Formats: sequence, C-alpha cells, structure tokens
Amino acid sequence: MSTPRKYHHSHEAPVGMFSEAFARLPLEQLADQSREANLARVDTVLRRGRATSLEDFAALISPAAGERIEEMAAHSQRISQRFFGKTVRLFAPMYLSNECVNVCKYCGFSRHNDIPRVTIPVSKVVEQAERLARQGFRSLLLVAGEHPKWVSNGYVAECIKRTLPIMPAVSIELGPMHTEEYHHLVDAGAEALIVYQETYYQPTYEELHTMGPKKYFAWRMDTAERGYDAGFRRLGIGALLGLHDWRFEAMAVAAHAQHLLRKCWKAQVSVSLPRMRPATGGWQPKTEHLMGDRELVQTICALRMLMPHVGITISTREPPALRNGIAPLGVTLMSAGASTEPGGYDHFDENAWQPTKEQPGEQFHIADERAPADIAAMIRSHGYEAVWKDFDQVLVTDPSRELAPA
Ligand code: SF4
Repeated sequence: MSTPRKYHHSHEAPVGMFSEAFARLPLEQLADQSREANLARVDTVLRRGRATSLEDFAALISPAAGERIEEMAAHSQRISQRFFGKTVRLFAPMYLSNECVNVCKYCGFSRHNDIPRVTIPVSKVVEQAERLARQGFRSLLLVAGEHPKWVSNGYVAECIKRTLPIMPAVSIELGPMHTEEYHHLVDAGAEALIVYQETYYQPTYEELHTMGPKKYFAWRMDTAERGYDAGFRRLGIGALLGLHDWRFEAMAVAAHAQHLLRKCWKAQVSVSLPRMRPATGGWQPKTEHLMGDRELVQTICALRMLMPHVGITISTREPPALRNGIAPLGVTLMSAGASTEPGGYDHFDENAWQPTKEQPGEQFHIADERAPADIAAMIRSHGYEAVWKDFDQVLVTDPSRELAPA
C-alpha cells in the first residue's frame, strides 16, 4: 500500500492520468464563472435540455439557475428514466474496521481520535451479510479505514469471497492500493471500487490530511484508474462537501467523471456528493463552504444533464425529506439502514432495523435512520422500482445511444 516516489511530488504525476490533466483544468475560473452566470446563460442550456461542456455545467450550478430548479429537475428526471428506467438500486455499507493509519481532521476514525478500535473477524462479516440479506439487500459495500495489514494478510479478499454467496454484488471502499494489489480483490470477486477525493482543492487537502499515505493528493486522485487497470468495472468517485467551496468541488467531480468516462470506457462510473456529518473529533466546516438542500438537488440535476449515463449515489448522510424528494430526479443508487460502526449491525433489531444501543465507534452519525423496507416503500411510492441487486446488465441502455433533443 506504499505510495510510489513519483507521487510524493504532485508535479510528477504520470502522463494520461487524471492528476496530470487536473493540473491544467481552470477549475477556480469555472467556479467564478458559475457564481456570475446570468439567467440568459442558464436558459440557453435549458433550451437544449443537455449540458455539453463544463462551462454549461458551471451555469447550471449557478445561483441564477437556482430559479430554474423545477425545469432542471424535469430534464434530469427525463434523462435518468431514459438511461436507467424507473429504478433506484439499494445497497448496504458494512464497516469492516475503524483502524486507520491516516490523520484526516474531519473523520471519526482519524488516527489520534480516542475511540475503541476494532477489525471484525471474517466470521462476523458473514454473519452480518446474512442479517443484511434478510433485510432484502443483495448489494454490499465493504468499507474500512486504511491499514497496510489488510493488503498483506489477504483479509479483504477473504471477506469478499465469503460474502459473495450471500451478496451477489460486492464493492469496496478502502485506502488506495497499487494495481497489482487490486488484482487480488478483483480475482476474489469484487466488482466496484469506490474512492472519494474528499477535496479536490490541494491546499485544503494538505491542511486536512497530515499523516499517513492519504496525504499524497495525486496518488489518491488516480486510484480509480489503477482499479480499472486491475479489472474493476464499476468506479465510484466523489467529494466530501463542506471541506472547500462546493462549486469548485462539484466542477472537479464532474471533470473527473468525464475523464473516467473517456478513459475507462468499459466501466460504469458513478459519482457522489456526500455532505459533512457530525463525527468524533468535532471538526466543523466553514459556513461559506456548506451546500444547502436546494443546491444539492440543483447539482445532482446538473450532473445528470451533463452525463446521462453516470450513476449518482445518495447516502444515508442526507435527511429523509431530501432523500424522498430526490429519489425520482436522477439518483440511481441509495444506501439504506446503514451503520457506520464496524460490527454495528450486531446491535440492530431485525424487525424494526434500528440500533438497540449506542454506536460509540461509528465514523459519523447518519441522518436517514429509516429501515431498508421503508426506503424501498418510499421509492415505490414514486412509481419507481427499488432494485436490490445488480441491474446494469439488464436495464441500462446502450451508452452509445445519443439523447434526442428535448
Ligand atoms: S477518512 Fe478514511 S482514511 Fe481518513 S481517517 Fe477516516 S477512515 Fe481513515
């Protein structure tokens, strides 16, 4: 899990990787353009029904476009239904460990936080997968802090192999690895690799990530491409909103997704814009960096109008009312009934699917605590199907198909 030396100097990013292209992107300029865009510029994009450039996307996330949010939502819904049908896929995260060698100032698992540290044994992973399967889940995201021992001792590969008979779709969200290390996880059966950049603004990134391999900005940024080279066929990226100006972050995520769509063309690319939640350590975002509910909806619609085929994930970090409203507007993946504590599902009542005791080792506290069945019912109430297992092969239309003009 060590970082190659060339990544210790961000100006030496490998040719062709996103970190190299990123250095040339005028993201701050685009974020400024977004703040200044007027309604006439927004309406030009809306008449077309599609955003065809990052400049269009900047206009759609502008304060001015906030006045056109209903129109944007209608476009986003139409495009999503065309490419994904009336479906939302459900998945459950399972936290394997909160041991972590990194210092990330905003995270409950940060190395110096005084919390009980645990890595759950494989037998417990299987047991929890069975509990989640009884709730209906067939898609599992394995999450852990970053620790070199998992790479060397085969623990994660074993977790994947043992859960696959129970959960046909297993994804991973772990510390970045080398391509060769990812080969073992792909061979074990993992299908998706999720890694969020947290913030794409390098000065803030360096200020917040002070110890451990995570401090290497470009190494993290190129993780999805290393995973693709190893054979992952779903790639998830995102930014943790609240660390820096959200318009800058949204621009960067959009640019990153476009790069992956071009370069990793055999993969399904998904994006996520999780917003900060309270966590142990008490780190507080600056007010001016916070994204409001309407702005989140607006940005999701703008992403859909820019990239019709991209998956869009909304987690239980978001409150129920917002998740209810946004479910039919462009979201394709939702987590449900989540615990962010390793072994946390041990303490869930299986009927109500609520924790029966405090979760002192959780990474952050979720906002939508509803049971999976309630989330599925909410999705169905919109006339959508809640899909519990992989649907890409049967429901996603041919990505080469062009959208007809609105
Ligand atoms: S954000 Fe991830 S890498 Fe950073 S401290 Fe938390 S678990 Fe570790």
